[in-house]
Amino acid sequence: MTHPAREFATEVVERLRREGFQSLFAGGCVRDLLLGREPQDFDVATNATPEQVRDLFGRRRTLAVGASFGVMIVLGPDHVQVEVATFRKEGPYHDGRRPASVAFCEPEQDALRRDFTINGMFYDPLESRVLDYVHGETDLAAGVIRAIGEPRERFREDKLRLLRAVRFAATLEFELEPRTAEAVREMAGELLVVSAERIAQELRKMLSHPHRRRAMRMLDECGLLAVVFPELPDDPASRERAGERLHLLPPKSGFELGLAALLSELPVTAIVRPICRRLKLSNHETNRIVWLVEESSTLDEAATWSMARLKRLFAHPDSRQLLQLARAQRLAQGRDLHAILHCEEFLARTPPEELDPPPLLTGNDLIGLGLSPGPAFKDVLEQVRDAQLNGEIDSADAAILLARQLGGGESG
Ligand code: ATP
Ligand code: MG
Repeated sequence: MTHPAREFATEVVERLRREGFQSLFAGGCVRDLLLGREPQDFDVATNATPEQVRDLFGRRRTLAVGASFGVMIVLGPDHVQVEVATFRKEGPYHDGRRPASVAFCEPEQDALRRDFTINGMFYDPLESRVLDYVHGETDLAAGVIRAIGEPRERFREDKLRLLRAVRFAATLEFELEPRTAEAVREMAGELLVVSAERIAQELRKMLSHPHRRRAMRMLDECGLLAVVFPELPDDPASRERAGERLHLLPPKSGFELGLAALLSELPVTAIVRPICRRLKLSNHETNRIVWLVEESSTLDEAATWSMARLKRLFAHPDSRQLLQLARAQRLAQGRDLHAILHCEEFLARTPPEELDPPPLLTGNDLIGLGLSPGPAFKDVLEQVRDAQLNGEIDSADAAILLARQLGGGESG
């Protein structure tokens, strides 16, 4: 079994060790290896300074992304990269998010600055040995998210940890250790000192995860949901329906579908769009979310739609997600699925190339007929397109004939 990132990270550890430095895998990758999951990325911790890391691997193979915090990136083959960070302890926090300074130190202190015990372990890949100064292995085995040290103090330093606590508990199906949970509940309101971008980044991870319902429920229980989404109605029934929608989406659904499902009972212009703006989502994300929420309510009428209308909708790249959302919505409300099944039957019997076939008539053709661009022009094009999609015409000649009847003569 080859695993390029892991192999390269092991090489980096070896190389540092040969030069006489300490070096270990650290943090999230150790947690994931112990859980038997594929780490997303490998972090190496060492007592070599960033300059020494740079000298050892060479300027061309290193990036000084956070050298002042002791962090270097070492570039490997095939776009693999490993973060190599000098063991560090952090100075005081002033802004609720980042330490004012860092100092290089021993591995034990480096473990103590990390957020949760399961994220605070080191692993020696050369000797297959775990170095655990924070009893992370016990908590990993018990399924517990526990702040390292005094929970309140750790959350006071960095409020993003409030969301991280819930994310790890939800996605790993762990429980928050009671004192950690209590501190999250007590300090939930302080999350807002964290930038919208960082909050959104955590939401992306939670809402795209198969356990998105658990994540939102846990956020709700500790008061964070109301801080991130004060617009969500406070009544238990609507929270319950939101949870069901999240649960009913396919496990692998993306962030946009997840957020659309959470917000789908709310008005788009007054609430959904402003939420996207506040979270500083990308335009692409915002447009997808808004489209999904808006269109999902129109699907109720789908059984009465023309072929053209159905084809236009399902030519949209996100229409499959729209069906997922609409299905979850209706099931959560205890409504029937007629409209959804109608759409699915339509999709099942319609070859994909028929959803958006090349047009029989273009704007240029209309100009050739003597029509000049304007509202009527657009209207003729749309009607001819509808006739094509409805199967009423199937040749360029028929399209031109229809265009003439519709108004090609008027301004010609
Ligand atoms: P994932 O990559 O799945 O989000 P992770 O635990 O690897 O989880 P990263 O953000 O990649 O998270 O951080 C790597 C490690 O750095 C963490 O495991 C933890 O030890 C430490 N860490 C990250 N963010 C914080 C934080 N806000 N406070 C304290 N330690 C942190
Ligand atoms: Mg990571």
